[in-house]
Amino acid sequence: MKLAIRGDLLDFSATPTWGSTALDGVRWRPDHWLLVEQGRIAGALPGEQPPGEDWQREDQSGRLLMPGFIDTHVHCPQIDVIASYGTGLLDWLDTYTFPAERRFADPAVAAAGSALFLDALLAHGSTAAVVFPTVHKVSAQALFEAATQRGMRIVAGKVLMDRHAPDGLRDDVAGAEADCEDLIRQWHGQGRNAYAVTVRFAATSTHEQLAMAGRLLARHPGLFMQTHVAENTDEVKWIASLFPEARSYLDVYHRNGLLGERSVLAHGIWLDTHDRALLRDSGAQIAFCPTSNLFLGSGLFDWQAAIDVGHRVTMASDVGGGTSLSMLRTLAEGYKVQALRGTRLSAWSALHAATRGAAEALGLAGEIGSFDPGSTGDLVAWDWAQGTVAGHRDSVARGAVRDLAEQSLHARVFAWITLGDERNVAATWVAGRPLWRRPA
Ligand SMILES: [Zn+2]
Repeated sequence: MKLAIRGDLLDFSATPTWGSTALDGVRWRPDHWLLVEQGRIAGALPGEQPPGEDWQREDQSGRLLMPGFIDTHVHCPQIDVIASYGTGLLDWLDTYTFPAERRFADPAVAAAGSALFLDALLAHGSTAAVVFPTVHKVSAQALFEAATQRGMRIVAGKVLMDRHAPDGLRDDVAGAEADCEDLIRQWHGQGRNAYAVTVRFAATSTHEQLAMAGRLLARHPGLFMQTHVAENTDEVKWIASLFPEARSYLDVYHRNGLLGERSVLAHGIWLDTHDRALLRDSGAQIAFCPTSNLFLGSGLFDWQAAIDVGHRVTMASDVGGGTSLSMLRTLAEGYKVQALRGTRLSAWSALHAATRGAAEALGLAGEIGSFDPGSTGDLVAWDWAQGTVAGHRDSVARGAVRDLAEQSLHARVFAWITLGDERNVAATWVAGRPLWRRPA
């Protein structure tokens, strides 16, 4: 129950300054022992001062040790359709996503799919996630069971959709409400599971179902809410035609009592200043999904506008619209999206949004996202580089290559983000238990 892991410790003690590569908020402890006792972070010691013989020691020297990443928007059943060709959002749902999701009505498919999905998250260095299963109650059941077996922090809920979806993928208001109540009773606050009222998006729920979702949130303080908002211009026009009474797409959710401090809204590309202020005032967060936004051609999220207004932003893979469960790939694409918008996403702001920043936005700081003492021992050992090019680039950043030496931690970490992916993951622990190791 006493585990000490040696490596280069990197996490955040505070929010880094936007647009700065300075080390404010960055906690960098090269060559340290990270101490995990009874599944929780107990502290750290310099490499030359190992803990006593009663500690089990694991040497990951030369590797980066970070808190596990938090993926704030991802679809469990969509591993089946990741990397599918040729569509924008609305066609993509009809052509690829809905047929794949229909299979999750089968409890055996849902169980196998949940296990595959969670093990894949761990292999990619993510230890916590906010997840969409499908409309079927058994899909949420299977996901919570699989997460419980692994001890992972998962936020999820049965997807609500009672219109504009094919047969086999629609619920109804009364049945959905009863299913949600059952799932909340069984899973919310059980172990590390939390329930999220899960509206797929405004188009696939009737006014009555959206009102029911709001009632669930009002009835059960502490629930999360997850949905999509303003991803694609055709979608935004469709929502405007379905909800002529609403000021904006986001306002549809606001009117139904769905925006609060535990609300996670994916994308948020096509918002205006009123919407952003509403996000800020309600405490809701946007999950920025760059690989999905690029792959489906949805648009370029305006992070600078979020900073200017002051609403929360976290990072998400959005697989299967997104093209990788790797948060490194997600952050690297996030940098490129921001570059196209004329701003630069620092390695620190990116990593913070995928660790401590996400934990704070979800109200889970103190449990996940940092190496603060008392936090759960969810962590990942990363190779700084995999392959010849990344290895050489890392040498330059470490100052080992004459005439090119950079010797800047930001340069090194930024190159790691940009060139790295799941091949860099050496091992993943959840609550101090090693749940994934790279095969030898
Ligand atoms: Zn999504």
